[in-house]
Amino acid sequence: MSIIKNNNKSLNQETLCIHAGKTKGDHKGALTTPLYQTSTFVFDSAEQGAARFAGEEEGYIYTRLGNPTTRELELKMAALEKMEDAAATATGMAAVSGAVLSFVEAGDHVIVSKAIYGCSFALFNHQFKKFGIDVTFVDMTDESQLSAALKPNTKLLFAETPINPNLVVLDLQMIGDFCQKHGVLSVVDNTFMSPILQTPVDFGIDIIIHSATKYLNGHGDVVAGIIVSSKENIGIIKSTILKDIGGTISPHDAWLILRGLKTLSVRMERHCKSAQTVAEYLNRHPMVKDVFYPGLQEHQGHKYLSSQMRGAGGVIGFEINGDLDAGRKFINSTNLFSLAVSLGDAESLIQHPASMTHSPYTQEERLAAGIGDGLIRVSIGLEHTDDIIADLEHAFATIENLNTKNN
Ligand SMILES: *Cc1c(COP(=O)(O)O)cnc(C)c1O
Repeated sequence: MSIIKNNNKSLNQETLCIHAGKTKGDHKGALTTPLYQTSTFVFDSAEQGAARFAGEEEGYIYTRLGNPTTRELELKMAALEKMEDAAATATGMAAVSGAVLSFVEAGDHVIVSKAIYGCSFALFNHQFKKFGIDVTFVDMTDESQLSAALKPNTKLLFAETPINPNLVVLDLQMIGDFCQKHGVLSVVDNTFMSPILQTPVDFGIDIIIHSATKYLNGHGDVVAGIIVSSKENIGIIKSTILKDIGGTISPHDAWLILRGLKTLSVRMERHCKSAQTVAEYLNRHPMVKDVFYPGLQEHQGHKYLSSQMRGAGGVIGFEINGDLDAGRKFINSTNLFSLAVSLGDAESLIQHPASMTHSPYTQEERLAAGIGDGLIRVSIGLEHTDDIIADLEHAFATIENLNTKNN
């Protein structure tokens, strides 16, 4: 099986989305990689089976340990993130937990950005603490907090940028330098950007994780995750969280994501362009108090657009004038938007972080992370922006009427 892998370096991201990771030679000439929907693999002989278990012969054994369809997804993502290897997982949370569990043990200390995905926060704040892992949450926009948190037993750092849902951008160069200087393993959740808009390895980050549920798949029909890193790290990760813990992706889901990845660069381009248009519209709207989108000049993350990010992404946070009720009414009044958590789909989605994605935080923890009760998050889909804006306009009109009636 010849794998076109090593000559990927000269190819552009758009081309890698389509060609990287492709395995050649034994698919009966199929243009696209077939779905190997099989639990196990047949050995030619007892000797061959033994050789595969001993690692003396390459080849598949059992799908929890590896599968040809899944392998193509892993190699494609490794190429897109400009790293050596990858391990696909059952969900994004399996990738988050797996990246940590593979390298951290009881008594170790980890530094975590205080504003991260809600379930990642719960994982660090509740689950890992049960196993004797010491966790310090810090505001990673402030380098002095990083240094202050450092302990002799600090093993790993975990961050996400831009930070969901107010899109605060962290300085990956600063974080990468800090971790390398102190021998701390760095893990970055790159879900919001996808490798098209940001490649954290450029800044010395060791491990990159994704919820493949979002932009990578892009079609709202899969939950999955992926961890990308060096060959050595991926070896450790696979033997820990796939072989022994069992968070393996289904080959069918891997196949769907491979299909989604072909259009990733085209989709990201459109998501960014449309979100910019919608953010500018929201920014002009008299009923909007604040808009959080790195594409806007006044946003904290704007300055990273040339140095760190190749686009501002498709997610916008905004706060409307009015209380929690007005926010609920607004969300209920949209028609084109689907009221749903998740992001990165063709469909535009709208949700309320305080009561939905960030409900694992207490109100106090939420406010400390900059998530107000009136904050609304939208994931801008691939519809025409005229239609997206018309739907938001309709929702604004609905709450405006409500305000007038109440007065
Ligand atoms: C959705 C998400 C996750 C979790 O991924 P699942 O596929 O839902 O398990 C982790 N991090 C971020 C930033 C996410 O948006």
